[in-house]
Amino acid sequence: MTNKKILIVEDDADVRLGYQILLKANHYDTFFAADSSSAVSEARKHKPDLIILDLGLPAGDGFIVLERFRGNTNLAVIPVIVVSGRDLHGNKERALKEGAKAFVQKPWNDNELLALISELLGQPNIVYLATGKIHPGDT
Ligand code: CA
Repeated sequence: MTNKKILIVEDDADVRLGYQILLKANHYDTFFAADSSSAVSEARKHKPDLIILDLGLPAGDGFIVLERFRGNTNLAVIPVIVVSGRDLHGNKERALKEGAKAFVQKPWNDNELLALISELLGQPNIVYLATGKIHPGDT
């Protein structure tokens, strides 16, 4: 079975590294976009099975990315998990309403994030390998 592909849209290099370590250890292939404008082009290029999306991004926030994914027939079907430290102003409700499958608050819990990913990928019985680290938020 080939590894599932996950595109991570995140501007913080330390947070990207945290995802990379965690997801590689759990046999996912990872791809990255560091701003909202490259998120769509990277998604088209790599055809990920799932997208992890930060809200606080340069060149337009994560909601713009959600909107662009929604407007593209091929990308609209890919499940998106919004992971953000910003819980203000109803961001969770807005993200879910605008097409995200789930909202996770930073700093995330490894096991909870992995469980959510495998659930959205339709592979609920895999065993998780958490790194045991608390990952930084984007405050
Ligand atoms: Ca950010």
